Order: sequence, then structure tokens, then C-alpha cells
Amino acid sequence: MILIKGADLFGKTVDIAVEGDRITKVGKIAPSSDATVIDAHGLAVLPAFVDMHVHLREPGQEYKEDIESGSRAAVAGGFASVCCMPNTKPVIDNKYIVKYVKTRAAEVGLAKVYPIAAVTVGEAGAQIAEFGKLKEAGAVAFSDDGRPVENAQTMRVALEYAKQFDALLISHCEDLSLVAGGVMNEGFVASEAGYRGITRASEEVMVAREIVLADALDTKVHIAHISTEGSARMIADAKRAGIKVSCETCPHYFAATDELLADGDPMGKVNPPLREERDRQAIIRAIQDGTVDAIVTDHAPHAAHEKLSLSDAANGISGLETSFALAYTTLVKSGAITLEKLSQLMTSSPAALVGIPCGEIKEGGLADIVLVDLNAKYEIDPSEFFSKGKNTPFKGREVWGKVRMTMVDGDIKFKDGNICKA
Ligand SMILES: [Zn+2]
Repeated sequence: MILIKGADLFGKTVDIAVEGDRITKVGKIAPSSDATVIDAHGLAVLPAFVDMHVHLREPGQEYKEDIESGSRAAVAGGFASVCCMPNTKPVIDNKYIVKYVKTRAAEVGLAKVYPIAAVTVGEAGAQIAEFGKLKEAGAVAFSDDGRPVENAQTMRVALEYAKQFDALLISHCEDLSLVAGGVMNEGFVASEAGYRGITRASEEVMVAREIVLADALDTKVHIAHISTEGSARMIADAKRAGIKVSCETCPHYFAATDELLADGDPMGKVNPPLREERDRQAIIRAIQDGTVDAIVTDHAPHAAHEKLSLSDAANGISGLETSFALAYTTLVKSGAITLEKLSQLMTSSPAALVGIPCGEIKEGGLADIVLVDLNAKYEIDPSEFFSKGKNTPFKGREVWGKVRMTMVDGDIKFKDGNICKA
């Protein structure tokens, strides 16, 4: 038995007993002689986090990240479960690669990894992948993330298939014709710095398309990484109208703006791009009012040589190890939302969308648990990341909230800065 002593559960001090993969008791518990006791005084206890949008790069791009390094980053960031996007090489578009990812993740034995399979074969946008077989093999959702499904009829058919298989389709909304060679958000900063901008419309026209298609087919669709005021407004309107649309956003869209790229720093280059303050405020409001269903990292690790100049840099931020602290500091410390609400956006809400189990701090609950020191104030230092990707625009950012322990299925996988392997 593992006994967590004196943890703070949303303002209440509790002891938590864990046996096997379950929480057996929550309350005041006297330690028995065979118990491993973890002193959690001064630490907050939460269900371990769930990230429904990460890129683990394996198979094919292990120089950026692999399932082992990505799993280490996950548990170091407080995540018990991550869903990995299929834009690997080869693409996760058949049952063999789905099984490969699951097998490899089980061998690594840290975080639980759930593959998301491609909507179209090779993410090429033409032939729909075999949803039934992929779901049977363990795919929890479908997405061509990294790329949009450009053809509206292809998306319409894919949504019909998804409905038939009761699968979640996650749309990376980007009209490539409107991106038009841009490298950052279209606005004041881009013009001042002399870079070609990307209009908000490149995201918003496709958000509008997906809402229209979901409405027409009376089926659900999930919008990935929303970044603009307009996307948030359309999704809020659609939800009010009863259309089955859900969405996610990432810490960088509420903790940063395109000002981070004013001096040409390629670390802040991400897709969709960091927007302006009014968008950042709108995303925070959308989190407050329930428009946003999940906070995800879009963890996108890259090698150092791929992040050298803004014009040529790859898009993406290594996010698993900064997500909670950025969200806690920006949203909870500021008073925008409660810790309970943040916890829900990083656990039960995404878990329900993709239909996977997640922790719950109650008797009988799954023992996916994280202990966080909410009073720890520190500067983000990418050299300490377990991820191979050190690409973050938040280097030196002062944040609150440090993950001290991550438990997955009742086993401690990360504690006091170290990965724990069985
Ligand atoms: Zn994407």
C-alpha cells in the first residue's frame, strides 16, 4: 500500500491510500507497517493530467522525440495519459502502427499512450482511412493534425464515417491558401518586424466549415488548438445552437502573444500562430465560460537545428513540462478560473472526449495522481526538460506550480525531479 499523507485536496487536508491501481481510502488514515508513506504536506493533490494532443514523433522522427523521451516528459509534467497525433513517418493510418505505438509505450512503462489515427491515408487528404479497423486496434480518435483535410467533401464523408463508428474526429483548422507563405500572425508585430503574416481567417474559415458540416450531419466534431477571438465566438454560438462541437486550446494561446516574436525568436513559431492580446483575452474568456472543453499542450518537440531562424523554423513548442505551471499561473493565480476548473480541463473533460479512463481522487477512483507544489515559484529552464525538444518560447518565464510526484495506475513514475522506473 502507498499512503499519501497530508495532501491538500481543493482546500481540504486528506490522506490517500492506494492499493493496486485504485484509491482505496480518502480521509484520515493511520499508517500501517507495510505502507510506503509519502509526505505530501504543503502539496496539492489532483488527478494526474490527460493530454489529448501531443506529438511523440515515433516512428520516424526519433531525433526530435521518441515514445520513451516523450513519456518521460509526460510524467515529469504530471500527465498519466497522452494521446499522440498520427503525423509520424510513416503516418499512423493502419492497425500495425497503432499497435506498434501501444506496444512501445507499454514497454517504456511510464505514461499511458493512446494513439490517434489519421483521417486520410498518409494524411494525404484523399482516401479515408479504415476507421473501424483502426478503432478496433486501439485508436481513440481520428485527425490529420499537422495538416487540414482540405477538401470539404472528404471531410463530410469522414464525419459520416466517424458518426457510424462513434469516433471523435479532431480537425486541424487551417485554410492553406490563406496562409499564403506567412510565418507569424498577421498584425502590428509582423509588419514592424517585416515578416509575412497569417490572417486569422485561415483558421476561422475552416472552423466555420466544420461547424456547418457537423450541423448538417448532426454529428460531433472537435476543433484542435483554437487561437483566435473569432474561433471562440463561432464555437460558442454553435454550442448555444445545439451543434455538437467541442474544442481545445493550448497554454501558449492564453499565456503569450505575437510580441514574443517581435525580435524574431523562432521558438515562438507555432501553428496556428501566437495571436494578439485581444485574442489571448478572448481565449481566457472562452475557458471561463465553458466554450473551451480541454487544455492540451500540442507538444511539438523539434531539434535545435530546426529552430534557428523565424522564416525557416519548424512550427511547434515543446509543451508537456510547462503546461500545468503556465496554466496555473495564467489562469488560476490571476483569479480567472478555480483550480477545480483547471483540473477538469486537464483531466476529466478531455478524457471524456476521447473515451479514456482518468484519475479521480475518491475511494474506488483510478490512482492516476499528481502532487503539485503550488507555492513553488521558479523560472522555466528548457535545459532541464526530459523531452528531447528544448524548443520553448517560455525560457526564463517566472511561473508557479511544480510537479513533485506523478502516479500512473498506482505506480510512482516521477518523484522529486527523477523518473522512477519499475
Ligand atoms: Zn494542429
